[in-house]
Amino acid sequence: MNRGFDTYQLAEEHEALRAAVRSLSEKEIAPHAAEVDEQSRFPIEAKKALVKAGFHAAHIPEDYAGEGADSIATCIVIEEVARVCASSSLIPAVNKLGTMPILLGASDELKRTVLPSVANGEAMVSYALSEREAGSDTASMRTRARLDGDHWVLNGTKCWITNAGESSWYTVMAVTDPDAARKADGISAFLVHADDPGFEVGAKERKLGIKGSPTCEIHFSDCAIPENRIIGEPGTGLRTALRALDHTRPTIGAQAVGIAQGALDAAVAYVRERRQFGRPVSDFQGVQFMLADMAMSIEAARHMVYVAAARAERGEDDLVFVSAAAKCFASDVAMRVTTDAVQLFGGAGYTTDFPVERMMRDAKITQIYEGTNQIQRMVMAKSLLRG
Ligand SMILES: Cc1cc2nc3c(=O)[nH]c(=O)nc-3n(C[C@H](O)[C@H](O)[C@H](O)COP(=O)(O)OP(=O)(O)OC[C@H]3O[C@@H](n4cnc5c(N)ncnc54)[C@H](O)[C@@H]3O)c2cc1C
Repeated sequence: MNRGFDTYQLAEEHEALRAAVRSLSEKEIAPHAAEVDEQSRFPIEAKKALVKAGFHAAHIPEDYAGEGADSIATCIVIEEVARVCASSSLIPAVNKLGTMPILLGASDELKRTVLPSVANGEAMVSYALSEREAGSDTASMRTRARLDGDHWVLNGTKCWITNAGESSWYTVMAVTDPDAARKADGISAFLVHADDPGFEVGAKERKLGIKGSPTCEIHFSDCAIPENRIIGEPGTGLRTALRALDHTRPTIGAQAVGIAQGALDAAVAYVRERRQFGRPVSDFQGVQFMLADMAMSIEAARHMVYVAAARAERGEDDLVFVSAAAKCFASDVAMRVTTDAVQLFGGAGYTTDFPVERMMRDAKITQIYEGTNQIQRMVMAKSLLRG
């Protein structure tokens, strides 16, 4: 046997990281997950624990005072936190989403302004692309930014912004050239700080799941920011924002895998204990086949997510297909697995006495955000047909 054969095997450091995040999540995050959901409150205990351990934004490179975790390591952190609390997993996930356009396109000066404060846990970053009338059709956004002397002045409203109000920085895409021949070429990306004049966070959405992660509108009313807060060149913002998604869709896949694993683990424990017809329900083949299907699809999803993350880490050119596929497949798996987990708990699964109903509600968002799964399928088909 060739024990040194390491294809399809994570590095020892990855497995050690998984053990560390799992232990922290079970001890310090899981005990608060139900209450966070019930009270729709930000998981402050999780934030403190993640910051203390350096898991809140582990992807920030060492050059910017971060941990320098690779893309698979970042997925493992998100997966293991999501296994116990999907809302809490949005702390590392959205820190990656918000900073990815900066890492891909910002000047070194701007990176140094923002990234160290995210790395040390003082600040979080949100990503603001969507608008009420520009969801899937991102290029139709209406938020405007115009240069006035040495300041950009922003006006408009972004919606559905995850962790709004908790974040200090916002990566905001806005139209700078409304006359551009292609709408996408008239959009630029900016960094806005919560203290900038004219910036305001709106009311919290009342949601089906991920209730511990605030989702709000953010408003810009003549919001003036220094000229050097633009990310890259004018007109490159939408491309940078979409390129960022190629790197972060695997992290949503990881979140989905984690939620699904949490539901499977809970279901396995329950069916072993629950007795009907004089024996544990786990004795019934109908139940066993469900468990096998759940575990099989989670395993497949996990592999797709890690492969997509590894390809992103290697800086491969065309991540579009693989990252859309990983997010789409894993989130569909999460929805199916969590629904089956509720089924395996019977009536108990339908109550808040057990975590699986929360996991089912939390899983749904992974099919919607960072592009709905219809949009992922469009992206994959486009990539196939391009040849
Ligand atoms: C909880 C939550 C958190 C979010 N966080 C963020 C965030 O942090 N930052 C951010 O910028 N955005 C965020 N979003 C926004 C999210 O990315 C959008 O909701 C999503 O992209 C879909 O846009 P929409 O809601 O406008 O749906 P629509 O675009 O209106 O879509 C409605 C339906 O039509 C389908 N559809 C649309 N176009 C097509 C097409 N061409 N072909 C086939 N079907 C199509 C969609 O799949 C969907 O089923 C968040 C959303 C939610 C709910």
